[in-house]
Amino acid sequence: ALRPLVAGNWKMNGTKLALKELAGMAEGYDAGLRGKVELMICPPATMLYLAAAAALGSRIAIGAQDCHAAASGAYTGDLSAEMIADCGATAVIVGHSERRQYHRETDADVCAKAEGALRAGLTAIVCVGETRAEREAGKALAVVGRQLARSVPEGANPDNLVVAYEPVWAIGTGLTPTAADVAEMHAHMRRKLVSRLGKQAAGIRLLYGGSVKPSNAAELMGTANVDGALVGGASLKAADFLAIAAAY
Ligand code: 13P
Repeated sequence: ALRPLVAGNWKMNGTKLALKELAGMAEGYDAGLRGKVELMICPPATMLYLAAAAALGSRIAIGAQDCHAAASGAYTGDLSAEMIADCGATAVIVGHSERRQYHRETDADVCAKAEGALRAGLTAIVCVGETRAEREAGKALAVVGRQLARSVPEGANPDNLVVAYEPVWAIGTGLTPTAADVAEMHAHMRRKLVSRLGKQAAGIRLLYGGSVKPSNAAELMGTANVDGALVGGASLKAADFLAIAAAY
């Protein structure tokens, strides 16, 4: 089994007051837990510097939630992967369904952003996932396969790529797919990645995300080809996040 990654996506939540939750996570991330699972928090960009400094020494990694594809330029309000790395972050989420939906990001946009992440030496956490209508129409595997093919850049490998399967209908709803559905999707993603990137793709971590909480973490994380979790709401509080990590 791969070394699991439990990553928290704080979305647009948190001011510097939230550093105390990060401190609580750092405190609970003891040697026992460190031996079992890697932890990462992706706070809002405004907190990246402070969070990276606060997490230093705790071995909790810090990631961003989005980046621009270019390294620099006339893109008012945007942040490059190089700037994110400069903050002390080591990863960036790209292609989250909320970016795809509210900012109309296409697979090509997501791929360009992931390329930016690789160029800057960051790990790209590429998100994919079907909508409820797509699942009900029996298209989930096809949709996710296509997103994966178009969003993952050339040059991706186990050191610079993590994939997160987040069914849109499971995000923030309390609903989750069955373990059998997650297993089917993750096996599908693994096959697609191996056929494109070769045998090394067996080492790429595939996370599940969408309504992960302490009570369902063990079952979801125990599913074949699930190498960790991308956690939204339940990553905001140290106790919940640590309880999810402890499910390993
Ligand atoms: P929830 O865990 O709040 O459902 O959010 C999942 C998510 O979108 C993580 O990126």
